[in-house]
Amino acid sequence: MSALPCLHCSVAPERRHQVESGRVMWICPVCNNRGEAHPVEARALSSWNLVNDADMPAHTCKANGVARFFSSGGQWGSRCAGCDFVDHGYATIEGARAGWARAVR
Ligand SMILES: [Zn+2]
Ligand SMILES: [Zn+2]
Repeated sequence: MSALPCLHCSVAPERRHQVESGRVMWICPVCNNRGEAHPVEARALSSWNLVNDADMPAHTCKANGVARFFSSGGQWGSRCAGCDFVDHGYATIEGARAGWARAVR
């Protein structure tokens, strides 16, 4: 598996190794879009790809915004890049993805 380009900027992400915590995180150097900081290399990479999945449906607003996933206060969420829609409060990226999918259905 290789790292997808950032869904928002089309640039290649950077892999960051946090020495203190032993975690790896993939992050966009332009917009700070990021995957999960995780000690398992494969999970760090797959989580980046989960938040940059071009197959996620667009928001059903006038802008047809793309999902932007984020982590805040230890919980994952999504927001629409085209309007003020926010859905937050999931323990995992998978949960946030499911929340987005429900919201745009
Ligand atoms: Zn980006
Ligand atoms: Zn929207």
